[in-house]
Amino acid sequence: MKPVVAIIGRPNVGKSTLFNRITRSTDALVDNFPGVTRDRHYGEAVWDDIEFTLIDTGGFADGDYDIFSDQVRAQVFYAIDDADVIILVLDGKEGFSAFDKEIINILRPVTKPVFYAINKIDGFEKEKNLYEFYALGIKKLYPVSAEHKYGISDFMDDLIKSFPEENVPYQNQDMIKIAVIGRPNVGKSSLINRILGENRLLVSEIPGTTRDAVDSVCEAGGKSYILVDTAGIRRKGKVHKKLEKVSIIKTLKSLDRCDVALILIDAVEGVTDQDISIAGYAFERGCGCIFLINKWDIAAKEEKTAKMYYEDLRMAAKFLSFAPVLTISALTGLRLSKIFRMVEDVYAQYTFRLGTGRLNRIVARAIIKNEPSLHKGKRIKFYYATQTTTKPPVFIFFVNYPEKVHFSYKRFLINQIRKETDLDKTPIKIFFRQKQSRVSPHKKQKKK
Ligand code: GDP
Ligand code: GDP
Repeated sequence: MKPVVAIIGRPNVGKSTLFNRITRSTDALVDNFPGVTRDRHYGEAVWDDIEFTLIDTGGFADGDYDIFSDQVRAQVFYAIDDADVIILVLDGKEGFSAFDKEIINILRPVTKPVFYAINKIDGFEKEKNLYEFYALGIKKLYPVSAEHKYGISDFMDDLIKSFPEENVPYQNQDMIKIAVIGRPNVGKSSLINRILGENRLLVSEIPGTTRDAVDSVCEAGGKSYILVDTAGIRRKGKVHKKLEKVSIIKTLKSLDRCDVALILIDAVEGVTDQDISIAGYAFERGCGCIFLINKWDIAAKEEKTAKMYYEDLRMAAKFLSFAPVLTISALTGLRLSKIFRMVEDVYAQYTFRLGTGRLNRIVARAIIKNEPSLHKGKRIKFYYATQTTTKPPVFIFFVNYPEKVHFSYKRFLINQIRKETDLDKTPIKIFFRQKQSRVSPHKKQKKK
């Protein structure tokens, strides 16, 4: 599991510039899909071969908030609770403000690594601007210029050194890991409590792979499952209890550790934009996904039909059209046992391996059915395809012009694979690579 680094600070200090500076080189690796709201505020980063997730928390406040607004403060608390490492950005040109001082005081007792980056120090000669900041009594200040790269490399070296070491992994790695995600109040903690309550026999809290995450094991249908970060969901944040905002950090962390994500939707409220953006995170992380439309006890009384919701979801989240949908009630226990059967179905597909021979026969048939369009009058040739990893299944296609394969053709190929293998409930990723002079079909792809 990758560490999560959160950038915090008041508006205009240079958070998003720093975010772009750090993630820029890796941005191109993201497998984009129309319909997923591409969030520019979180992304993958690599320094010295160490991968981590970076979040620009400022990006999650809505539009023109004033700097003392609850939103900025809430993001600070989320970062303290959920991130592994925090970067506070201060403005080395303007100096610090009362608000900065307040944030620093909030951060002082925090035990996880906090980096104080004094930004807009655009060169050595600007370091005199730092004097003012020494008065804050912070042990180490990092003068940087997000815009001109000054100081970034030393800063990054120290940043990655601060990452927490991974604890001992689970002994029982073959248990399926399930995350429960969704907006506040959709019923996540009710669902988890209900599941754990009904399966009391085997309930035990086990330490997760990182310090803060505590997972639970439960049993259903004679099998054990890991519910990731149940403690985080059951113990609701003290300070930001009333804020109707999702901790994006918590969501991303659970998604990184799970095989299958249960995406809860509130049947009374219907499908909202926030639901879809949360679903988008699950899609981008390549998790197996199941939509659970909760509070069906109420919706059913209002004579809503499941079909209405299915259609809404399919329209709003086309990118997750492979995710099964189930109506449930965490309150009454309606259809909860069905969730686990669905998890099993999804997981079987999520870990499916398609033989190379069979895959290439599918590809050959697909190309006969529908030839890729020409690129500058030349044919796009498909030489060879192979599955490199599972969780989810990833297929690499070796072609002559990898960049020129049209998105619609990529989708066509995915659909052909789905059709011929019955992989209808798992995400599938395909990538195109330049055929090398010597193709090495077993070359391992980096795991997500
Ligand atoms: P955010 O609101 O904290 O995300 O701040 P932005 O990243 O949008 O930056 C605010 C302003 O500061 C922009 O005009 C940037 O061009 C500028 N800025 C960011 N980093 C630097 C820097 O290292 N040096 C200078 N001189 N300006 C910077
Ligand atoms: P969370 O913020 O996602 O963890 O949501 P909670 O589990 O705290 O639930 C929010 C509210 O919805 C609580 O008042 C629950 O009692 C209620 N709730 C949760 N699930 C159901 C359900 O299936 N039916 C009904 N009627 N209420 C529910």
